[in-house]
Amino acid sequence: MKIPFNDLKYQYLKYKEEYNKAAIEVLESGWYILGKNVEKFETNFSNYIGAKYCVGVNSGLDALILAFRALNLPEESEVIVPANTYIASVLGVTENDLIPTFVEPDEYFNIDPDKIEEKITDKTKAILVVHLYGQPANMEKIMKIAKKYNLYVIEDCAQAHGAEYNGQKVGTFGEIGCFSFFPTKNLGAFGDGGAIVTNNKNIADKIKLLRNYGSVKKYYHEIEGVNSRLDEIQSALLNVKLKHLNELNEEREKIAEFYLKNINNPLIELPKIQDKSKHVWHLFVVKTKNRNNFQKYLESGGIYTQIHYPIPPHLSGAYREFGYKKGDFPITEKYSESILSLPLYNGMSKEEMKYVVKFINKYSE
Ligand SMILES: *Cc1c(COP(=O)(O)O)cnc(C)c1O
Repeated sequence: MKIPFNDLKYQYLKYKEEYNKAAIEVLESGWYILGKNVEKFETNFSNYIGAKYCVGVNSGLDALILAFRALNLPEESEVIVPANTYIASVLGVTENDLIPTFVEPDEYFNIDPDKIEEKITDKTKAILVVHLYGQPANMEKIMKIAKKYNLYVIEDCAQAHGAEYNGQKVGTFGEIGCFSFFPTKNLGAFGDGGAIVTNNKNIADKIKLLRNYGSVKKYYHEIEGVNSRLDEIQSALLNVKLKHLNELNEEREKIAEFYLKNINNPLIELPKIQDKSKHVWHLFVVKTKNRNNFQKYLESGGIYTQIHYPIPPHLSGAYREFGYKKGDFPITEKYSESILSLPLYNGMSKEEMKYVVKFINKYSE
């Protein structure tokens, strides 16, 4: 049996007629950029998340970059960021000439709220929260700290569409929530896409200007903007998928529950779910001592896995300039050496799940 890490074909086939109809309507409309489909998606997505405004942009990274740009923080301000995250989260900060201050993760892989305060200086202006793998960070503690020190909170929700903390959707806790619609994400488009959500009208308006060359109307450029627009075809396809997002997330949850219930090999540490958390299982990440061994073992059984992420941002070549070295963030580094993401995707069959579980339970070192 061969089990891919992911196969995007199934999530297309499941609602194929709806997607095809939506795409063809756009093709035949003759209108491809910033039209009624983008507007409709922005309304639908802000309603789904429970935020007043949504602005579609070109990618999750652009959502992060434009979110920090819209805050207009003084140059060299410091931003608290999780050490254990995808580098794109941190790029949103450094692209704006802001300084990332890394904080180690808790046992749920997210930023450890109890380690934030010791990193705050008088230059700290914001906290970037990432709801990694689909599980919300501890927003109760984080929002308390943000209030106490008067810091903005920006949420990277690229892996957590529909995830909730204490019954509230992620993306609505801080000043701005940033989403990616990269095809593999829970709400994935059929190409690149992203969006910000916010309750602040000034910020929504500013990002609307920024994404379209800073123009208030065609050829009247008020601020220095960029080209970062969510296009009509992707918006039309996302409008279809958004209708089914809860169902798609529930399917992921069922696979995760099956793994949690049936994987019982003591060498494999299963992911933990935090109190008050609704996890949407973008990734199912286990830990094990001899990770590379375990990964090779699974591959020998035709089971394909991935590592999210093998090199933490502070040790990546991109951030050499900051001068971090191995040992600076030992918990993050240890995670990067022991984590492995198992196959979990919409359309995965029961037979495939059973095979994965059985093969994992037979693993020995
Ligand atoms: C995917 C991802 C991004 C970037 O999104 P793109 O649309 O690929 O630019 C940012 N942060 C996290 C945590 C992600 O997983």
